[in-house]
Amino acid sequence: MTTKPKIAPPGSICVIGLGNMGIPMGACLQRAGFKVTGFDLSEAARGKFRAAGGEVASMAADAVKAADVVITLLPNGKIVRSALTALQADIKPGAIIIDMSSSDPVGTQELGKSLIAAGFEFVDAPVSGGVKRATDGTLAIMVGGAADTIDRVEGVLSAMGRSIFRTGVLGSGHAMKALNNYVSAAGLIAAVEATRVGEKFGLDPELMADIFNASSGRNNTTEVKLKQFIISKKFNAGFPLRLMAKDVRTADDLAHAMGAAAPLADLCADLWDGAAKTLDQDADHTAIGLYIEKMKS
Ligand code: NAD
Repeated sequence: MTTKPKIAPPGSICVIGLGNMGIPMGACLQRAGFKVTGFDLSEAARGKFRAAGGEVASMAADAVKAADVVITLLPNGKIVRSALTALQADIKPGAIIIDMSSSDPVGTQELGKSLIAAGFEFVDAPVSGGVKRATDGTLAIMVGGAADTIDRVEGVLSAMGRSIFRTGVLGSGHAMKALNNYVSAAGLIAAVEATRVGEKFGLDPELMADIFNASSGRNNTTEVKLKQFIISKKFNAGFPLRLMAKDVRTADDLAHAMGAAAPLADLCADLWDGAAKTLDQDADHTAIGLYIEKMKS
């Protein structure tokens, strides 16, 4: 059996979705020496990538046709499925497709069946770390799928990330990403609620944050968000609330699909969806503090 070659610079990569993550991640790939072509439905997004020195195509079919690797960085799994299904006839036979969006794992497994049956290789590789770490090329990447495909794209992933975790079967990266964000989102709400209750009792919120961080209540929110973005009322940590709401709902849907009771995830998903419907479309996820503040007890 012959081993297929690893994808190395100057291999050709297409990035579909030039939003907050696609632009800096595409730039990392270019810096690593890959030939990158970007595509986005939005002319403004294409313009931004071009202004940052990237090459863009104005049609998705032109963007993918010469690519050894097609990366999707799209809003959700449904959009990924419809974009890739529509592009199957245009993508180079045998190309590797990597969905780096935060998609739903069950949908990813369904999509994988049709892409793999059509002769493509496909892995899911969602990321954690936000725009800052996307810009620095230091994302955490959780990748699911066939080990030999992951071996082939390791150089591509390591151009964008510092830690690359192999999570198992196709879809397991997406499952891990949604579950991670559920844990983060639940911890954020607990920290916000506790701080608000304490403040009403007469505790100093800043002191509360210091005590959480020296005690067993410490979590990612108490460490890097509570004082910085919530108590300060800046609400600009850099991760949109609509994406957090999507991730928590994905985790909750996964719990139901697995038949695993997750009563807190049910409540949490409803809370984040409620905030996403009420607050501004561009609201930061830390602004759930404002939403909870306005709720009746
Ligand atoms: P974004 O909304 O900024 O960008 C998405 C882009 O996709 C937009 O420019 C949009 O025009 C484009 N698009 C939508 N449908 C398209 C289609 N059919 N074809 C081509 N382009 C299309 O989103 P983002 O913040 O870049 O996030 C991308 C993915 O990464 C999401 O799944 C998100 O959950 C995940 N993610 C985001 C962050 C973050 O901090 N922003 C962190 C981790 C993971």
